[in-house]
Amino acid sequence: MNFADLGLSKPLLDAIELQGYTEPSPIQAKAIPHVLAGRDVMAAAQTGTGKTAGFTLPILHRLSNTPKPSGKGNQARALVLTPTRELAAQVAASVETYGQNLKIKTAVVFGGVKINPQMQKLRGGVDVLIATPGRLLDLHNQNAVHFDQLEVLVLDEADRMLDMGFIHDIRRIIKMLPKKRQNLMFSATFSDDIRQLAKTIVHDPIEVSVSPANSTVDSVQQSLIAVEKTDKTQVLTRLIVENDWFQVLVFSRTKHGANRLVKQLLAKGVEASAIHGNKSQGARTKALAEFKAGKVRVLVATDIAARGIDIDQLPHVVNFDLPQVAEDYVHRIGRTGRAGASGEAISLVSHDEFKLLVAIERLIKKEVPRKHLDGYQPLNDLPGSKGDFRDTKPNKPKNKAGNSSRSRNQNSKSDGEGTSRSSKKRSSNFKKQPNQAAPSRAGRNARRAKAGKKVAPERSGSNVSSSGDKGSNRSSNNSNRSNGNSNRSNNTVG
Ligand code: AMP
Repeated sequence: MNFADLGLSKPLLDAIELQGYTEPSPIQAKAIPHVLAGRDVMAAAQTGTGKTAGFTLPILHRLSNTPKPSGKGNQARALVLTPTRELAAQVAASVETYGQNLKIKTAVVFGGVKINPQMQKLRGGVDVLIATPGRLLDLHNQNAVHFDQLEVLVLDEADRMLDMGFIHDIRRIIKMLPKKRQNLMFSATFSDDIRQLAKTIVHDPIEVSVSPANSTVDSVQQSLIAVEKTDKTQVLTRLIVENDWFQVLVFSRTKHGANRLVKQLLAKGVEASAIHGNKSQGARTKALAEFKAGKVRVLVATDIAARGIDIDQLPHVVNFDLPQVAEDYVHRIGRTGRAGASGEAISLVSHDEFKLLVAIERLIKKEVPRKHLDGYQPLNDLPGSKGDFRDTKPNKPKNKAGNSSRSRNQNSKSDGEGTSRSSKKRSSNFKKQPNQAAPSRAGRNARRAKAGKKVAPERSGSNVSSSGDKGSNRSSNNSNRSNGNSNRSNNTVG
């Protein structure tokens, strides 16, 4: 199947061709025809599967083929709600890219930046408005945006929105919208919570899915190195320097830890910057742009801040700390191996993180292969994985009062179903034309050339050796699911 078979208009097909996409990704092939037909769609797909084009292309087709209603200003014809500012910016960039040959007005609004320029942008009305919920409500309260002419609502990463405590904001926003509209809901999985929310939003939806539960990205080469907690920075630096890695996305559990790590890397001469909720939006945008351009070698991110980061062919992801919530492991490693490209994800695991590792291996239903760094041995080695990946229903974490804690306001994360929010098994037909060099690769080559180094198209492997280490620990996966990075005060949200 190609994009023309989907019935998209010529200006859109031209824009797609410019991107080098040869054929629709599975989620695009499944969702686009229904969206074009005007149906409500619930799609199980997460970032990395091509879902943004899956809703953007048919929406642009529809908006550009129907006359703009005349009337009051400050109207939006399509509204895309996203959980984070980064994802909002990312979606807006995609709308601009795919709509480059169309007369479509786009605006993106999120918190953390001045509201006035956003109000001005909305003044004449827009075709597509991409927003985080908090800022959208602020704008609506100030009469800066109206929805009388809204035709389409998209809820992007609906599961994440619930995790981040946006349920009340979403309900408030839904009340502001006209009853007659098309609804598209994208979520990594359809948990009970999501289905509950869907009941109040979508009408007679078509369900499409490309995400078999709990599988991790096939194209990502995963491994772990057992390290002493205090040796992590040293091991990370060795990995980066000895393997000549460029563009390494490193995950830190805390904002403070991210800052500290950046300082330590800089002290060792490795250019690094941090992206997390305590940074201003300007600092975050700058850090991301420099990283994308290959000017900064290492980007240290917390989970929420990393959401929405889309960098083509990002070659290396490092889990400096394992995530508290196993599903975040899949989100993290999904930053590499995007759009069918291969990538490498290495976790630095200290002895005290073993329980978290067990939870991850249960979730992905396989052992993360272990590797040794030449000449390095931690004082406390990790127990071996038993290879017991049976489905277990994780116990709900208890709060002090002994109640099951699911309140997002207390920074806890919903998961009770024991299902993965992740899983972006990508089909091999999700390909770009080889002539389309990713910006990230170009940046990397530029810096290598500047440093007088050979510009190598292939990626270097890591200087680590595998070991099929197996032991006998059957630790349970009832890890504490409270996630310090998933609160609203963390401020990646609008
Ligand atoms: P998304 O899941 O929307 O975040 O998209 C992930 C990446 O896939 C982005 O870098 C897109 O540019 C890329 N992409 C989207 N559709 C296609 C396609 N049909 N073929 C190749 N790459 C694509």
